[in-house]
Amino acid sequence: MPDLFIGGRWTAAADGQVREIRCPADGTLVATVDEGGAKDAAAAIAAARTAFDDGPWPWTPAAERGRLLLRVADLLERDKDALARAESLDTGKRLVESCYDMDDIANCFRYFGNLGAAGGTNRVVDTGAAETDSTVRHEPVGVCSLITPWNYPLLQTAWKVAPAVAAGNTFVLKPSELTPHTAIHLMRLLTEAGLPDGAANLVLGTGPVVGAPLTEDPRVDMVSFTGGLLTGRRIMAAAAPTVKKIALELGGKNPNLVFADTEFDTAVDHAVMAIFLHSGQVCSAGARLLVQDELHDAFVDELVARARRIRLGGPFDDNARTGPLISAAHRTKVEAYVAAGLAEGAVLRCGGAAPDDPALRDGFYYLPTVLDECTPDMSVIRDESFGPVMTVERFRDEDEAVRLANDTVYGLTAAVWTQDSGRAHRVAARIRAGTVWINDFHPYVPQAEWGGMKQSGIGRELGPAGLAEYQEAKHVWRNTAPRPQRWFE
Ligand code: NAD
Repeated sequence: MPDLFIGGRWTAAADGQVREIRCPADGTLVATVDEGGAKDAAAAIAAARTAFDDGPWPWTPAAERGRLLLRVADLLERDKDALARAESLDTGKRLVESCYDMDDIANCFRYFGNLGAAGGTNRVVDTGAAETDSTVRHEPVGVCSLITPWNYPLLQTAWKVAPAVAAGNTFVLKPSELTPHTAIHLMRLLTEAGLPDGAANLVLGTGPVVGAPLTEDPRVDMVSFTGGLLTGRRIMAAAAPTVKKIALELGGKNPNLVFADTEFDTAVDHAVMAIFLHSGQVCSAGARLLVQDELHDAFVDELVARARRIRLGGPFDDNARTGPLISAAHRTKVEAYVAAGLAEGAVLRCGGAAPDDPALRDGFYYLPTVLDECTPDMSVIRDESFGPVMTVERFRDEDEAVRLANDTVYGLTAAVWTQDSGRAHRVAARIRAGTVWINDFHPYVPQAEWGGMKQSGIGRELGPAGLAEYQEAKHVWRNTAPRPQRWFE
């Protein structure tokens, strides 16, 4: 069966291109999929445009749209095992982690389904004048291009598809060319749940070939993108000539602040998890450890010992605790990033190379790495590696901790570890990031907004604001007893 989904039909690429998808854990061939081009992107945009302008979906009551999303949530649960397996083969991620992702994805659909099923968000306005009625209607934005990355392929897709569909939009989805399989499966589930033809479209392919037209075409009203900062800047520029609405979820260089009074074992445990989960390929990863001077030596010694013990392996290896990087090209980038840090004076405490275990030879593995004695001017502090690399900086007091934490162009997440709740709340308030955890790292819920300050992005996903991203507010004012005003008489 072909892999592009355009106007309710499965189709091959117009120019017959295909791509091999290989598992990053061992290089084995997962499948060959159709690789779309500019013609396919244009056809998908046309289908989404027609479905929006003429189709029933934007005019379907919000409650009915919500009920469809609840059915999708049920179908996601039904197909959880197959979806998790497909996600793990594409990404190399441990199967158990893909299973957690699938639960989160069903919850995301359920959250936006319930929000819709509650009956929409239109608001009656009291104008203060007796002979008027006034309503603010929340209408869909239109045709949305949804462009997603490879690290949490279906999760990042769900955060866009569920609210876009709830709000009555039609869309063209372009997942990362490296991880297409769960997006293909999702199209089948949306159709099975009853989404009309043309409301959901899928084009596989690369950013420059398929992504670019999705961000430039005048028939597209909105672009919602998750990915790297440089791509985000390009997309903003591409969307500017036609003044599209944009939502950007970009990278992070997230500070994890550990004060000397913290509970040692728990804070070390979370610091290791914060960065080495999914081999650091997490936008919210705690890549920058900031530790108070007097705790530094003991804390870093212990976390290095634990990092050395992390077992690497493929998705179906029950003993593995984290997996490979997504590609050889990405591993080369991480290697260059570490080399730059060492040249600038960082001290390598562990890792800094691919593992020498022959069983891992065919995968794109990289050892958990800790770079100590880093300073704010180093490239490893300023740039995102998106790999299993933790940098360590020291701070003396609260003011210095906050100053260092905010000294970055990014502002996605941060954490503060202390038993002093006054300090925890002061620091949380002063850090410029979209999410701040106190004595925790990584949890999120679909009810709470997610997104970045500064160059980590524009707009929010999840929560009520995550639905509002996909809506336009329209004020409809009706004069119930119109009379001439005689303004010019
Ligand atoms: P990327 O920017 O290389 O690619 C993301 C998507 O954009 C892919 O589908 C790609 O094909 C497409 N793309 C590339 N060039 C394009 C162009 N010119 N026009 C349109 N589309 C284009 O990012 P990636 O390597 O896939 O993902 C890693 C990045 O994503 C990291 O920086 C990470 O921090 C970020 N990320 C952020 C969040 C968040 O919630 N803020 C979540 C996950 C990942």
